[in-house]
Amino acid sequence: MSRLPVMASKRVLASSEKFEDKQPVQKKFRKEPQPIRPQAASTVLGTRRPPVTATRAPVSRPTRGVGAATVAGAPSRGVFKAPVASTVAKGGKMTGGVAPADPKSGGPPRRLPWDMKGKVTDMKGKLQDYQSKMKSANLEKENLKGSLGELQLKAADMERDLSETQERLRVLLGVQDDLERVTSEKKTLLTELSNLQDKHRVMETLRDSQETEIQTLKMKLSVQDSTLARVQASLLAVEEEARLLRETTARLEDELHAGEMERRRLHNTVQELKGNIRVFCRVRPLVEGGLSNHIQLPAKDNKAITLAKTEESHTGKSSDTHKNYNFSFDRVFGPEATQQEVFEEISLLVQSALDGYNVCCFAYGQTGSGKTYTMEGAEGHSARGMIPRAVQQIFASTHKLAAQGWEFSFTASFVEIYNECLRDLLYTGKASKRPEHEIRKDNSNKMTITNLTYQKVSNEDQVLCLIALANQNRSTAQTNQNDRSSRSHSVFQLDIEGTNAGRDVKCNSTLCLVDLAGSERMLKSQSQGDRFKEMTAINGSLSNLGIVITALANKETFIPYRNSKLTYLLQGCLGGNSKALMFVNIAPEPDSFGETLNSLRFASKVNDCMIGTASANRK
Ligand code: ADP
Ligand code: MG
Repeated sequence: MSRLPVMASKRVLASSEKFEDKQPVQKKFRKEPQPIRPQAASTVLGTRRPPVTATRAPVSRPTRGVGAATVAGAPSRGVFKAPVASTVAKGGKMTGGVAPADPKSGGPPRRLPWDMKGKVTDMKGKLQDYQSKMKSANLEKENLKGSLGELQLKAADMERDLSETQERLRVLLGVQDDLERVTSEKKTLLTELSNLQDKHRVMETLRDSQETEIQTLKMKLSVQDSTLARVQASLLAVEEEARLLRETTARLEDELHAGEMERRRLHNTVQELKGNIRVFCRVRPLVEGGLSNHIQLPAKDNKAITLAKTEESHTGKSSDTHKNYNFSFDRVFGPEATQQEVFEEISLLVQSALDGYNVCCFAYGQTGSGKTYTMEGAEGHSARGMIPRAVQQIFASTHKLAAQGWEFSFTASFVEIYNECLRDLLYTGKASKRPEHEIRKDNSNKMTITNLTYQKVSNEDQVLCLIALANQNRSTAQTNQNDRSSRSHSVFQLDIEGTNAGRDVKCNSTLCLVDLAGSERMLKSQSQGDRFKEMTAINGSLSNLGIVITALANKETFIPYRNSKLTYLLQGCLGGNSKALMFVNIAPEPDSFGETLNSLRFASKVNDCMIGTASANRK
């Protein structure tokens, strides 16, 4: 931008130089005639010479030459009138026809007024002078005309040059604009470039760090690759091992299942060999401990019991007579036997129940002989009876069997049979709304009681709660009728349903634990009204129980189950498909001798029975 004006000025200067180059020629040309011009002529022409600029008049007025104007004006006005007049008017002192020369002008000496001849001579001289000047002026004019033409040509050239220069200048201005634009663009681009360079540097730094990172990662990757290969190799080995183990497990599971089935079969065989109906005798301790003399338990034989009776001689002559009543049972428990010892024998039957056999366990004996103690137990962990222990064993076993694919579900019910009437001991509704119950045989020949509470249970505590509820229900009834519990049977039933889906095996069974009514017999004279009715009912159901068992033992075609509610209800648990166990509970007091003898007689009658070989309820 700044350079363009300079260039322009240079151009201007160059053009002026051009002019100067040519001027000397003109000057030279103009000065040439000066020496030949006489001094007087300059006086005649006057001091007012046309300005020099006049000779440099515009080229456009070539016809008015300077020389021509001077020459034309001078002779007509200055030479013939003014100079002469002034010389005459001024006049001075005459000196012999020729006036002394004007010291100031330095021209020829003045003629005296009378010297006409001299004046003519002077005039002639002057005329010649003028003529020669005319000639030179004309020559100069011609020369000027020529130079004017040249100058006009040059002016035309210069005009062309000027327009060309202007055109160039215009182009240059455009170029300058472009240059400015390009310069600003360049600036922008330079800024961008520097930004990009900065970014580039940042990116380079980043790239360097990432390359380092990549290197590290590559190293890690290679380490991991080798680890992976190692792990894959070991995985293959482990998979192979797992496959072998799975095969072994499957084989072992098969074997286990077969073993379990075999165990059930053998267990059942053992139970059958022991007798499908077993009788255990349990002697309650005396309140103050120990045992009465009339009960003798041989130390080495836990299956025998002897009732000894000493009768005084009526005559007094002979010594007292001793009479021993010997009984043997599957097992006799003395007064010191703990609940745990008793249960160990029961647990085999509980196992049978889990294996799919119906199991029924009775407690028979006179009131106060320990039936309830045996079945339910008393306060404290060690005093727990057969029902809670059996339940505990069942739930423990189901957890173990679950590992072999068995799933179990349990349903509990608790019913009281009083005077041949059924009463739900798990009933929780209003007493006034107690429903009536009836025993029915369902489609699968299973005995059920209408309107009875069948409670699903899944753990021991739930069963213990149900037992507590049953006791509460019983004691409520007891306040209305004294000693009611001893004159009613209570039947706890646990329905067991087992499924082994993997092996497509199912089994179901019922475990019955029955606390029978007191077996004591009352004198007919002592029992009247309701008492007599009760006595008849109790005697009826207990003796019918004996009859049913005897009939089963004798393999009679007709078994009178329906003769009492108890035998009808327990029909499924007595007979071909089941195992039964009867506790005969003995009170050791001497005054219970008669009842004890009756109980033992009844029990031994049952003990002699063999229930037909049981078969598990498998499907
Ligand atoms: P039942 O039910 O036959 O009428 P119980 O079971 O109520 O008789 O027993 C009567 C009493 O004797 C209860 O106080 C009970 O705790 C106690 N008893 C029964 N059997 C035993 C035993 N084997 N050991 C200790 N106490 C017993
Ligand atoms: Mg009782």
